[in-house]
Amino acid sequence: MAGNREWFERAQRVIPGGVDSPVRSFRSVGGTPYTVVSGAGSRVVDVEGREYIDFVQSYGASLLGHAPSDVVAAIGDQARRGTTFGAPTPGEVLLAEIMVDRVAGMDLVRLVSSGTEAVMSAVRVARGATGRSRIVKFDGCYHGHSDALLVAGGSGVAQLGLPDSAGVTNGAVGDTIVAPYNVVPQLDDSIAAVLVEPVAANMNLVAPLPGFLEGLRRECDRVGALLIFDEVITGFRLARGGAEEYFGVTPDLWCFGKVIGGGLPVGAFGGSTRVMSHLAPLGPVYQAGTLSGNPLATAAGRTVLSQLTDESYRDLSIRVADFARELRAAIEASGLSCATPTVGPLMGLYLARAPFDAPSNFEEARVLCSNGLYPIFFHEMLQRGVALAPGAYEILFVSLAHTDDDLATTVRAAADAARAVSAS
Ligand SMILES: *Cc1c(COP(=O)(O)O)cnc(C)c1O
Repeated sequence: MAGNREWFERAQRVIPGGVDSPVRSFRSVGGTPYTVVSGAGSRVVDVEGREYIDFVQSYGASLLGHAPSDVVAAIGDQARRGTTFGAPTPGEVLLAEIMVDRVAGMDLVRLVSSGTEAVMSAVRVARGATGRSRIVKFDGCYHGHSDALLVAGGSGVAQLGLPDSAGVTNGAVGDTIVAPYNVVPQLDDSIAAVLVEPVAANMNLVAPLPGFLEGLRRECDRVGALLIFDEVITGFRLARGGAEEYFGVTPDLWCFGKVIGGGLPVGAFGGSTRVMSHLAPLGPVYQAGTLSGNPLATAAGRTVLSQLTDESYRDLSIRVADFARELRAAIEASGLSCATPTVGPLMGLYLARAPFDAPSNFEEARVLCSNGLYPIFFHEMLQRGVALAPGAYEILFVSLAHTDDDLATTVRAAADAARAVSAS
């Protein structure tokens, strides 16, 4: 079979930049992407037969690891009975029931096909429900690639050095106000909604400071704005009930994606009956999708969620905390400085040559993420069989399939990789 280089050359001939999502292109770390043919548990295998311990895990979509047998079986069972109908199905009801049951205060949830759609639609509902136009987002938070939200995004937007995107009109972002993360902005009654990642996980990892989320809740209540939690990463990953359960702050609208699709394309947004009743066909806010609530995706998502218990989250959080401490020690033994902040099972990684404090906003994260060390570390790890995300603004996704052995191997690889970075 052709190798990574040949596949990427072929890809570039027919797909812009050779990728269907920019972060995959290796632009910010240099070199040629590995082209994946299969994955199992914590591992992926590329077209050259090289195996990697995978901390990308589809950017958080795979919490059980790759190709878990129950999920594969559920997808197969459903596929044999049809993959999409354009009529209501039991599968979407069952998935929605699980979500509504786990997320306190969320009465109704609408399934869509991506996180982008979920956030875009939640913002539309918030505007429809309040009759107001303006929304507040935070610098470095990523909310998908819809026009109005493509300002000061983290993740791929930050990696490519684009402050926002060409093709997005001033009009489209004219009602979007950008504020620094971890500072409660002063609102007025022109604001429809405040949109936030309850843990910022697209500018590497930035935890909410104590009082930040509570402050947003209070300020929204004061002016009658809605609080939207973008839980596309944190939902069903941080805890069984997501960020609300973890931090004890209840938003008005929730957005989900990634984990709830079990590796298939799904998103969802939900809220109280009062807020969600503005949505068609109950109300005047239009939103739709041919493949929304797709039977394959709901079968996969349901199977994943049914396997996630309070113990899953507790165990994974403990293992990630240990891993973070060991990884940091291994890297610092080389003379580099390192931070591996964690929030539950979410984990970030910052590298520098001199000691630093872990960042609390995008400005601080950007200084660390652009110091040039991560691309070198990334390639040193890849050579040693460990696949981190090809960009300094992403977090490490440790799945329930990563074994103690995988994590110990990763720590040993990091010790060697850090020595090479330190000497560079
Ligand atoms: C990934 C992500 C999105 C966008 O989801 P897609 O499925 O890629 O459209 C939105 N918000 C956050 C916080 C994300 O991490």
